[in-house]
Amino acid sequence: MLKALITGGTRGIGWAIADQLCQDGLVVTVVGSKPRGAGPHGSDYWGCDLSKRDQVKQLAKKIKKTGFDILINSAGINKIGELEKYTLNDFERVHAVNVVAPFLLCQSVIPLMKKKKYGRILNIASIFGSVSKPGRSAYSTSKFGLLGMTRALALEVAPLNILVNCLAPGFIDTDMTRGVLGASGMAQISRQIPMRRFGTAQEIAKVAGFLVSNDNSYITGQMIVADGGFTSA
Ligand code: NAD
Repeated sequence: MLKALITGGTRGIGWAIADQLCQDGLVVTVVGSKPRGAGPHGSDYWGCDLSKRDQVKQLAKKIKKTGFDILINSAGINKIGELEKYTLNDFERVHAVNVVAPFLLCQSVIPLMKKKKYGRILNIASIFGSVSKPGRSAYSTSKFGLLGMTRALALEVAPLNILVNCLAPGFIDTDMTRGVLGASGMAQISRQIPMRRFGTAQEIAKVAGFLVSNDNSYITGQMIVADGGFTSA
């Protein structure tokens, strides 16, 4: 049975992806920031604060030892603020979780995937990894970076049947969105989305489930956008 590791699997998009993979019959481990926590029914839980490099290195060692066929980097944070006033600490924290952790975790899964000549890596990026908005300098830098890393890595491991992609959601109704935009912000943005609504975590999970499955045998190095038409408008 294929083994999958999903960061940020305790809520939101990561939780929905983990749930989808459990339903698909995979062996699923989720990573959350607290020492104790839980993902969906049927998954294992490992704690790691991905903003702390020493903890990520420990997690990477554990992953290397266990071996996974699928890695999904879904954990991510966003703090909106004008670049002029943004603190370096906040900038570095966003990058620690959104870029440095995925980098170290990708490194840790590749050796076994190479041995098996099979692997699927999916990085959850964002539409703000190809377009942006005021106040998103840290978040956009991290998601543009994640896309660049995905493309380069995909080329390095493509001959070994390891497929590496980004999934870029638009506006999805999760704790993160509610925290960042608030109810009035969400209502305003809904009117700007061609489909006139936010996406659901389950809709993103369906796409993710396909990208990391055997049914995806030829898509690699891509950013798949699921945004209700937002970036085409
Ligand atoms: P969320 O805030 O609902 O969940 C984030 C998850 O990341 C949680 O499980 C949380 O525990 C984990 N996490 C955060 N900081 C962590 C840390 N330091 N260590 C370990 N785990 C940590 O967010 P979401 O909306 O589900 O977002 C998931 C991913 O999708 C993120 O990468 C986000 O950037 C991306 N995304 C979300 C949206 C959206 O509209 N919600 C849109 C585009 C992209």
